[in-house]
Amino acid sequence: QLSFSVYKKPQGRKAIPRRPLRIGILTQEPRNYSNRRMIEAGEARGHVVDCIETSRCYMAINAHKPEVYYDGAPLPRYDAIIPRIGSRMTFYGMAVVRQFESMGVYCLNKSSSIGNSRDKLLAHQVLAQHGLGMPTTAFAKSSRDTKGIIDLVGGSPVVVKLLESTQGKGVVLAETRKAASALVDAFRGLNAHFLVQEFVKEANGSDLRCFVVDGKVVGAMMRTAQAGEFRSNVHQGGTVKRVKLKREETRMAIKAAKILKLNVAGVDILRSDTGPKILEVNSSPGLEGIENATNGDIAGDIIQCIENNVRTVFRTRGK
Ligand code: ADP
Repeated sequence: QLSFSVYKKPQGRKAIPRRPLRIGILTQEPRNYSNRRMIEAGEARGHVVDCIETSRCYMAINAHKPEVYYDGAPLPRYDAIIPRIGSRMTFYGMAVVRQFESMGVYCLNKSSSIGNSRDKLLAHQVLAQHGLGMPTTAFAKSSRDTKGIIDLVGGSPVVVKLLESTQGKGVVLAETRKAASALVDAFRGLNAHFLVQEFVKEANGSDLRCFVVDGKVVGAMMRTAQAGEFRSNVHQGGTVKRVKLKREETRMAIKAAKILKLNVAGVDILRSDTGPKILEVNSSPGLEGIENATNGDIAGDIIQCIENNVRTVFRTRGK
């Protein structure tokens, strides 16, 4: 019943005969740039691409026939799911991705990998265990030893980060020891989870966003903070430009994605005097900045990754 066809691949890509895939993008923002581009890239290769709103999914959890329901009916059988889980949807989004996994659907990033990279403490610990360079970081919950925490990272200036921070919103620079102590005490008073980090001054308000797909860096950009700001997030007024990575930066980005088992990852790296230092690994990195900065077809790379990894009937037949 299945038809086979040869897709037109963009130049330079090998055409592999495959049946068209049914791909679902799990997202809360079906019309944003990243999703529009992935739909476009998928359809250009003959696939069917749907957006599924994460919060509208509901599930029957049983051993025999796990399904995901949507608007009163079970969803059709997808060959692949692209999870685009925003930070506010982590908990529920991971459950939906897990459900697709238990149905045997190929999920571009696994639920466990999304969870591990979202948890900044866990991600830091795992990446450090694997020997990746990172700014000296301390974390504590209710230790009264504020001075000790600040000393651990080499004294002021320090960066204090709320663990739930995204888009740079919970990231503060304390330039003096006094400011650092006040900040640590304040966060502790709020019972917030936070970490204290050495401030990498020589990064000069810039960081590198390395976009990794299927074990390769497919694009990299430098984000630079606006004047008077150290956070380079675009949401904080940062600007982006294409950048050529040094070999050790490429290696670090690939290694970080591999350690966290992410097929798609946005790896943020600071350039320091002592080599690259990893800041964070994002499991649903946006496409707009990176495609504009690099002129690349990252959406195409993501679809290609699915084509490479989904076991289609065509592929398994010969084996
Ligand atoms: P978020 O997840 O909220 O984006 P990040 O940890 O990525 O938080 O920090 C936001 C920005 O602040 C980074 O992109 C970087 O430009 C800057 N920054 C973060 N940590 C440091 C640091 N230790 N030293 C220098 N700059 C930093």
